[in-house]
Amino acid sequence: MVKIVGIDLAGVESRPTGFCILDEKLKTETKILYKDEEIVKEVLNVKPSLTSIDAPLSLPKGRCCLRDNCPCRKAGHLRKCDKDILRLKIRLFPVTLGPMRKLTMRGINLNKTLTSHGFKVVETLPSSVRKILGFPAKTEGVDRLKKALTSYGIKGLENKSLSEHELDAVLSALAGKLYLEGKALEVGDPSEGLIVIPNPKLYNYPHQNLI
Ligand SMILES: [Zn+2]
Repeated sequence: MVKIVGIDLAGVESRPTGFCILDEKLKTETKILYKDEEIVKEVLNVKPSLTSIDAPLSLPKGRCCLRDNCPCRKAGHLRKCDKDILRLKIRLFPVTLGPMRKLTMRGINLNKTLTSHGFKVVETLPSSVRKILGFPAKTEGVDRLKKALTSYGIKGLENKSLSEHELDAVLSALAGKLYLEGKALEVGDPSEGLIVIPNPKLYNYPHQNLI
């Protein structure tokens, strides 16, 4: 059975991280985790074909760190994949600013750990899944998204009280599933970092700006 893990990573271990196991039949199992150690333990346990993480997993080219007083700061705030996402009219926060810094460093480290265990990891962006697949926006609340995901065919969400972190983990896992099925697109520069999104061409999402 093919399994995909989706992780809506929090910036710090004291805040909830959404974790979802999605299988090829769209069955889900979700939970909230906190520490990196717990996340790695779960992934080792599940042995997924793919782990999709909603967090930046790389720095912009030319950056060696995210410190403001480092000369690398002149290399800027956005990666090519971030610019591609913005061209698709999908919002995102620069990886180098505010609370995103902690999340970016945590994402990079988690990616290293999981990759060192032999797992395949991709970066995803739940807002891109919402927009391209036409799911309700975050502002519409968790219940509407839960309904939309259930009508899409995702199982195991009904009669369960779910946090937005768990639902973002489901969206992240879904992007990973589409990737395994060849229905996703990797945007960005492979030598810098890529983001996996549902292929806009397959879902009638305007993508002219990308070319
Ligand atoms: Zn630096």
